[in-house]
Amino acid sequence: MKPGNKALGINTQLVHAGERGAPPQGKPVSNPIYASATFTYDSMAEVDQVFSGEIQGYIYSRYGNPTVNALAEAIRVFEEGAVACAYSSGMAALHAAIFACEITAGATVLASQDLYGATTDLLYKIFGSYGIKTATTDFSDLEALRAKALEVKPQVLIAETISNPLLKVCDIAACSAIAREVGARFIVDNTFTSPYLCQPLKHGADFSVHSATKYLSGHADVMGGVVVARDDVDLPTLIGVMKLVGGILGVWEAHEIHRGLKTLAVRMDRQCANAASLAANLTNHNRVSRVHYPALGTAETLDVMKRVLRSPHAGALVSIELQENTREAAFRFMDALNLCVRSTSLGDVFTGVLHPATASHREVAPKRRLQLGITEGLVRISVGIEDIADIIEDIHQALEKSAE
Ligand code: PLP
Repeated sequence: MKPGNKALGINTQLVHAGERGAPPQGKPVSNPIYASATFTYDSMAEVDQVFSGEIQGYIYSRYGNPTVNALAEAIRVFEEGAVACAYSSGMAALHAAIFACEITAGATVLASQDLYGATTDLLYKIFGSYGIKTATTDFSDLEALRAKALEVKPQVLIAETISNPLLKVCDIAACSAIAREVGARFIVDNTFTSPYLCQPLKHGADFSVHSATKYLSGHADVMGGVVVARDDVDLPTLIGVMKLVGGILGVWEAHEIHRGLKTLAVRMDRQCANAASLAANLTNHNRVSRVHYPALGTAETLDVMKRVLRSPHAGALVSIELQENTREAAFRFMDALNLCVRSTSLGDVFTGVLHPATASHREVAPKRRLQLGITEGLVRISVGIEDIADIIEDIHQALEKSAE
């Protein structure tokens, strides 16, 4: 409808005026937010051709949307993958990646023993209810991993680039080789590093998955997830999950994550430098018994870190175990922080602290948590972009105050 058409009644004009005009003269410099659930064409013949795949085009935003696809494409480029698809959260993305491995009842997934708690739950509770079995092992022990893989003959291996919360860097190339040896596909959750610090597909993984809620967006104001695959044969399944399960990313969220990407390198450079300073500073603190940080590892783990992560970085997370290794001491310390935020996430511009035993690993049985090294006095710090002196001062004063 042309604006100002007098022949039409006011109610009709209100519905149609200003809509579906010609594209603007001049390209917008920032990707527009296509807040449109559906797309129209000049003729039904065209609609039919789009539906049949004869011509490319958008139909319905659950099948694809230009704003969301622009974000997926950006992350595909950073990950150097063949195809990418965005979802409403990191969990929705992990579900899609596991589904894309075409596992059927009776198949086994071999998972890293210290995956994010909800990922382990997804495997046991959702995929388990369809007859898919899950086995776990320590992916940092390659001998044990290989033995377990040969024993359980998994169809899928799944690990995180940096484990949570003890921050062990995964030797992705070695794990990929084991996956290939047993004919399994390898999914790497790259949330803790982002493609700026690591590109798992280059090391042989089949899928790189992100919770875009973390470093990619970086500002704790949006949720999203992305799967990048090394092979384009996986695209139909990834899109199929999006279409039929319906966990699609909203256009506003896609726009915010895309905006966040533009400062990813700048933020991560600062966050990693701050984390390195904090880890070094806390190493000799008398109220801290242990600092977990990839750069403080053994010669062997340092070698893995150097091969996997962008030099000179070691990530932007630091986990500390308090000298008084109790939940009460951890809570007192976290309550005493003035600047660092008690937050259940990571990867934001501000420094956030989390208590793994009662948050990310709450559902893990206490005995199992201790076996994994997740003690009650362990606190995970996601280091932000603030002035490092302020972060250190806040943590020092909280350590002192909580010990009184
Ligand atoms: N993967 C990791 C490593 C995470 O830490 C999280 C959330 O904390 C997720 C996946 C799930 O992401 P989301 O909360 O966006 O669903």
